[in-house]
Formats: sequence, structure tokens, C-alpha cells
Amino acid sequence: MISLKTNRELRYMRDAGRISQEALLAAGEAVRPGISTLELDAIARKTIEKAGATPSFLGYGGFPASACISVNHVVIHGIPSAKQILKEGDIVSIDVGAFYGGFHGDNAWTFPVGRISEEAQKLLDTTRESLFLGIEQARVGNRVGDIGAAVQRYAEAHGYSVVRDFVGHGVGVQMHEDPSVPNYGTPGRGVRLTAGMVIAIEPMVNMGTSAVRQLGDGWTVVTEDKKLSAHFEHTVAITPDGPVILTALGQGGK
Ligand code: MG
Repeated sequence: MISLKTNRELRYMRDAGRISQEALLAAGEAVRPGISTLELDAIARKTIEKAGATPSFLGYGGFPASACISVNHVVIHGIPSAKQILKEGDIVSIDVGAFYGGFHGDNAWTFPVGRISEEAQKLLDTTRESLFLGIEQARVGNRVGDIGAAVQRYAEAHGYSVVRDFVGHGVGVQMHEDPSVPNYGTPGRGVRLTAGMVIAIEPMVNMGTSAVRQLGDGWTVVTEDKKLSAHFEHTVAITPDGPVILTALGQGGK
């Protein structure tokens, strides 16, 4: 069932979204060679708690941390660890959400660690751009397939593949609500978008094949071919005035 949010509920969701973005940016600003992924997680958690919110991911399905931190060929759901130290040239995806006022926010960004290869930078640029092309389609009267098609078309035009085993989702009282929002699709197909829907659009784009697998820890998802993967996500409200990014501090959220 898809829950539609009232304007009053959307105001609460803006707060949850803003705190989620603050946590993401605080952790992102700390990214540098030599820092552990556990330290980044602690920064995200502190930022959320300081704002009077609760980390959405902590304890979710038994997840042991506040942020999913996924390095290089890890696509999503990486578990922060004191033993995992970032190195120059890595890319690191941080995915974090905050629960505040009864609602969740959810966002992710892939950051470069120091200087990265041109190849890796192009993957980040393309994935980020595919997110914003998807958001552009999040309009009343469009369908979920319009979002997925926009993401897929752009990513594949650059020679990349989109992950199919994991998808975006509705966001609200629950972190994961209906509908599913795949990063692939056919224009004009799928659930029709209406005002009051809130969805997380989250392209996961791989440099090689789209195939992924989960490691034995029950969380970490890696690319089958060990090539790099990037992940960018915003929580977006569908309104009569167009898409509104709830996980943005400023204009456009870029
Ligand atoms: Mg999400």
C-alpha cells in the first residue's frame, strides 16, 4: 500500500530529511585517507543524535551501525569497521537515514578518498547525474518506469550497468514503503505517481556487470566482477509543483 503524505506530514519529513543530509555531509567531509569506516559511522550517528533524531539504520533488521559504508566494489550495506581504513584512490559510499517526528529520511552519496582515477571520477559523476535525471521524472502523472528509464538510459549510455537486485522505495513512517523504485524501467509503465508520495530514488551503478552478490555476513553486497560501484540517493516528495528533494540542505541538494 502506498501512503500519501499530507502537507503537514511533509513538513516533518523535511526535518527528517534535513537531518539525514546533515549526517551524510558531516561524514562525507571527514572522508580522507587513514580514517576508518567506523569513525565515519560515529560522525553520522553523533550528528543525528545531536539533532534529537534516531539513526534509522541502527538495529534495522539487526544492522549493527548507523550508516552503511561501502568501499570500492561494495555496492551497498557495507558494515562500518575499525579495521577498514580508507586509502587514497578509494571511493566510499555512505548511506544514512534519520528518524525524526515520526518519519524517516534516507540518503546516500559516494565520495572520493583523496585523489581518485579519472575512471572512478567518471563513474561518480555519471551516477550522480543519473540520480538527478531520475528525480526530474518524479512528477505527478508520470510513472515509476519513467524514473527507472531515465536512470538506466543515462548510466548505460556511459557504458555502465545498473543494479537490478536492489531498488529504491517509498519512505515515510517506515524506512521502506511501497512502491518499489527500480533503477531500470520502461517509460509510461509502472505505478502512477501522485501528489503526496515520497520515494527514495537511489541509483546503484556498476562499472562492469550488473551482477551482485551478498557476502556471508548477511549484509555486504558486492559486484560479482569486483569492479567499482557507486550509489547516490535522495528522498523526494512528489508535489503539484514538481519534485522536492527532502534530503537537501540547499538548492537542488547538489
Ligand atoms: Mg534507501
